[in-house]
Amino acid sequence: MTRVAVLAGGVGAARFLDGLVRVVPPADVTAIVNVGDDIEWAGLHISPDLDTVMYTLADMVNPETGWGLRGESRRTLDRLSELGGPDWFMIGDLDLATHLFRTHWLGQGNPLSTVTRDLVKRAGLELFITPVTDDRLRTMVDTDAGEFSFQDYFVRRRAVDRVHSLRFDGAETARPAPYVVEALNESDVIVIAPSNPFLSIDPLLSVPGLRELVASNRSKVAAVSPIIGGEAVKGPAADILQSMGHDVSALGVARLYEDLAEVFVLDETDAALASTIESETGMRVHIMPTLMTDVEAKMALAAGTLKAALHDG
Ligand code: GDP
Ligand code: CA
Repeated sequence: MTRVAVLAGGVGAARFLDGLVRVVPPADVTAIVNVGDDIEWAGLHISPDLDTVMYTLADMVNPETGWGLRGESRRTLDRLSELGGPDWFMIGDLDLATHLFRTHWLGQGNPLSTVTRDLVKRAGLELFITPVTDDRLRTMVDTDAGEFSFQDYFVRRRAVDRVHSLRFDGAETARPAPYVVEALNESDVIVIAPSNPFLSIDPLLSVPGLRELVASNRSKVAAVSPIIGGEAVKGPAADILQSMGHDVSALGVARLYEDLAEVFVLDETDAALASTIESETGMRVHIMPTLMTDVEAKMALAAGTLKAALHDG
């Protein structure tokens, strides 16, 4: 039996988890998910990364985008546009039900982790999916054009601004959600998913105590590179690495994780970086294909990552 805790953002993490639950029993998997991207929009509490993970694992995700629901329509949003908005955040008609459900039960005084557990159960999933914290935590992006909330920067302004720094509003007083600390301590392996290091993993680790907890478990931690051949598979990870002055490569990512993970899973495309990563960071590099193009590729990546972390690969 291998119990696995995964530090997760959205799309990259969801794909990884989709493979993982096919190589270990789903009940042995805990996904600890970023909430820095959460937004209150039109009175609704939206948790994009939690929903991406849930929709992907429930096989309900839109395969073209990697987020949102398959077969989605946008009648509500179109009508909202006719009314003059707000219509800048893409909410499909079916997706809206998730946000109404979440907002309703939060409004009744339930913590986000409890509401998430209900949603996950209704989706028929057996893995444990939890927000990293039930407290308010919001990624704020400082750019050339001023400071914005993450969704303002990313969706409303279409990520055009040059990023100087990020901060995580609420982090100082946020507490880990129930079972997060236990999951990290009691798992056999902790995986840092191939997620955006700055926008998905950093906010998670900004919850007091969690960075130290992961670092103190370093010998069982494996990080999977979200950067392949100097590029993000999707999203702004490469741009942000660059604008924040880091090497835009798997080496740049490895440097960010050197105190946290003993194993670094590197794409075969980047094999030439392996010896530099090992000598510079002291991580053990495991080289394999990391592009999760189909279910087989996802399963192979999950299995290879576990093997490397368990010292038998
Ligand atoms: P977001 O919140 O939806 O942006 O999700 P994440 O932070 O979890 O994922 C974004 C990251 O996933 C990007 O940096 C991508 O490069 C990475 N990613 C997406 N698909 C893959 C893949 O198939 N393989 C690898 N190695 N990384 C991926
Ligand atoms: Ca996200």
